[in-house]
Amino acid sequence: MIDLHTHHHRCGHARGNLAEYVAAGRARGLSVLGLSDHAPLWSKPADHPAPGMHMARSAFAAYVAEARALQASHVGDLEVLVGVEGDYIEGAVEAYRTELARHPLDYVLGSVHYVDGRHVYDRTRFEPGFDVAAFARRYLELVRAAAASGLFDVLAHVDAWKGRAPTPWPDVADEVDRTVEAIAAAGVAVEVNTSGLRKVGEPFPSDAFLRRLVEAGVPITYGSDAHEPGEVQYGWDDVSGRLRALGVHRLATFRGRERGFVPLEAVGESV
Ligand SMILES: [Zn+2]
Ligand SMILES: [Zn+2]
Repeated sequence: MIDLHTHHHRCGHARGNLAEYVAAGRARGLSVLGLSDHAPLWSKPADHPAPGMHMARSAFAAYVAEARALQASHVGDLEVLVGVEGDYIEGAVEAYRTELARHPLDYVLGSVHYVDGRHVYDRTRFEPGFDVAAFARRYLELVRAAAASGLFDVLAHVDAWKGRAPTPWPDVADEVDRTVEAIAAAGVAVEVNTSGLRKVGEPFPSDAFLRRLVEAGVPITYGSDAHEPGEVQYGWDDVSGRLRALGVHRLATFRGRERGFVPLEAVGESV
């Protein structure tokens, strides 16, 4: 069992240090735990422009070094991966490419958090008259651009536009189809993210979106998006049931930015 999406205190809105997440992963019997805190906001020149959302630029090297040390100290036991969750921000792709290339990483999660200057979980955006369908379409357009950017190994929470959005959600199935095609063409993996379970009562992406991804042959992985150590492996039983129902038998994992797979079934599967 794996969990490729976790945070810790450096981002300014998660609790616990890296060692506590590793301990939680071991306590839950994981075989792979990915450390993937929010990258610095490299779209801005300042050292620490968003202290409650992102770690400082000057903190990133220490984060990677601390994660590498934990990785080295747990060989043969729990495999620790050193990753990061990077933002897809229009106009900042080359800045992210440059910064990511400076550090030895096992994988990079790619997320759309900012849509035309507003954060996806900013609940104040849903003022009366707010066009949720237009927002969802714009979000998915940015996910397609993130896929095509080549910056990322895994796209995170690909329909997080639902977070905080009023229900019923608009039907954007045509836009989802276009997005699945773009993701498949880019060769990037997609995570099933259980912050959706915590925020909207179902994982990101929805079952319908996930089914289309699986049918298109997109590699799937899993992340709890834990913001405290107790959330490591959050919702895994729910997710494993959904994956088995769709015939998914393996999950993508990464080492040195090379993709591999671990079997979902403990026995009888080839890796
Ligand atoms: Zn976060
Ligand atoms: Zn995220």
